[in-house]
Amino acid sequence: MLKAIGAIIVCLWAADFITGFIHWMEDTYCLEHLPVIGGFICEPNIQHHIDPLDIVRDGTFFSRNYLQWTSCGAIFLGLCLVGWGNIYTFMTLFFASFGNEVHRWNHMSRSGPFVSLLKETGLIQMQRQHSLHHKPPYAQYYCALTSQLNPVLERVNFWRRLESAVTFMTGITPKRENRRDAAPPKKTRRKKTQHDNANRLAPAAS
Ligand SMILES: [Zn+2]
Ligand SMILES: [Zn+2]
Repeated sequence: MLKAIGAIIVCLWAADFITGFIHWMEDTYCLEHLPVIGGFICEPNIQHHIDPLDIVRDGTFFSRNYLQWTSCGAIFLGLCLVGWGNIYTFMTLFFASFGNEVHRWNHMSRSGPFVSLLKETGLIQMQRQHSLHHKPPYAQYYCALTSQLNPVLERVNFWRRLESAVTFMTGITPKRENRRDAAPPKKTRRKKTQHDNANRLAPAAS
């Protein structure tokens, strides 16, 4: 029993890291003029940092999450093909596929009693922790599922070190100054596109 609970927790943390990694990539390197992903993933991500409450207003449960479900499903299928499909990889991808929904819960002023309980007990990310992501320096607390991984990653300066490693290996520098929340809010709401909910934390994951 304890082993099973331990496995679930480890899978949850692994999923949390996946959401953080995808979110970090989007915030740091994703620009709206990039081909294919520019309008599909980068632009909604940038918009979320200009207007964080858009995630609460827009979309349905399906439209907010279908990209994550299909991406995680495709990845699991790929893992099965190379012999890595098992209950642990399934659980990790299953949890990761709900990263954006948990992210949305953290922007809602009110949640149902069950979600509130999960947030207050820290079983999923606490609202006050995600709010740190939307405050200066706007480049921290990327993980969106739990409250446990972010403090550790911030303590070891993980994301800045990763950026330095990427720059060292590829010459690519962070572009995140283009999507800081400090950008002035748009006066009118962006016209909805079919990609509106190809979300900010799409694990294909803010
Ligand atoms: Zn972000
Ligand atoms: Zn957010």
